[in-house]
Amino acid sequence: MPQFVDVKSMTRWIQRQGVEPIMTGMVGYLEQDFSRWEQFDKIPRVASHTPLGVIELMPTSDNVEYSFKYVNGHPFNPARGFQTVTAFGMLADVDNGYPTFLAEMTLLTALRTAATSAMVAKHLARTDSAVMAMIGAGSQAEFQALAFRAELGIEALRVFDLDPAAVAKLRRNLEPLGFSIYQAADIGDAVAGADIITTCTADKAQNTILHSDQVAPGVHINAVGGDCPGKTELDPAILTRGRVFVEYPEQTRIEGEIQQMPANFPVVEFWQVLTGAQQGRSSAEEITVFDSVGFAIADFAALKYLRDATLGTDLQTHIDLVADPEDPKDLFSLVSSLKPVG
Ligand code: NAD
Repeated sequence: MPQFVDVKSMTRWIQRQGVEPIMTGMVGYLEQDFSRWEQFDKIPRVASHTPLGVIELMPTSDNVEYSFKYVNGHPFNPARGFQTVTAFGMLADVDNGYPTFLAEMTLLTALRTAATSAMVAKHLARTDSAVMAMIGAGSQAEFQALAFRAELGIEALRVFDLDPAAVAKLRRNLEPLGFSIYQAADIGDAVAGADIITTCTADKAQNTILHSDQVAPGVHINAVGGDCPGKTELDPAILTRGRVFVEYPEQTRIEGEIQQMPANFPVVEFWQVLTGAQQGRSSAEEITVFDSVGFAIADFAALKYLRDATLGTDLQTHIDLVADPEDPKDLFSLVSSLKPVG
């Protein structure tokens, strides 16, 4: 019977372990799976677009296990009392095709997105990076900050959001944890002197959150919010000033910042930096851009990490998900004893 981690168990796990130790553990799983990238089945995610948002399915498999995530992206949701992003997902055994593990993934997506950003920044940001600008202080923001502290030791944040209440919320959540937070007057003020710039805004538009003249040499940009056709955050001129690193080019060319560029725009697949096939940061002056859209292999790694970390604890319960008759050819046996209704 499949094991299940529900929202309550997920929150208890995160509270017990702490976000930062989880980030470090998850980065380990991500690095392992990104390093064996070629072993995975890969396709761009299957997206169903509507005027208000998108619903996506994200499958992958390493031919031993299979995973998929259901995730939505609805930028106008917070104004209606809903979150922008919610998700759930599962692992299955490739051998017999049975589901083995099911989990809430709204929190897990925030953890895996932040862990992926930090894993990439660890290899691309300058090693003396100390200050991060954050544009967008919504649901993902605290997780991003904690991942960057866990992996790069960043504690100084310069934050801007169009919604001052979102920044107030971020300060309320992070200042007690020891972060120093500067509330910026605008984006130019936020990025002044920053070593790393994280853009994590939600809108259904081709925005220019960050202009090229706001990006100093040597900066690493962690561009998280542009993850859908017609939804971008960066001035395209930034993309030509440095090197752009992506998860899976076939998906990123549809969804990422590089949707603004010609189809043959050169990018580096990040997994090749991990294997040593491609160089990471090449100099202190280079501008590096992680054009993050979120790829299925990161969800696969995050689900496996959650499953392994909660194995044998009270945080996993059985879920009666698969109808499983004694005689595998007699599915009807499960219902044949029912009396006809009426
Ligand atoms: P959210 O709605 O909770 O927060 C977004 C914040 O951006 C809001 O506080 C909003 O006021 C702010 N904002 C919007 N436009 C702005 C602007 N022009 N300048 C400054 N602030 C602005 O959303 P979230 O859950 O934090 O997600 C943020 C983004 O990240 C979304 O676009 C989401 O789709 C994306 N996302 C990407 C990945 C990935 O893997 N790349 C994963 C999860 C979410």
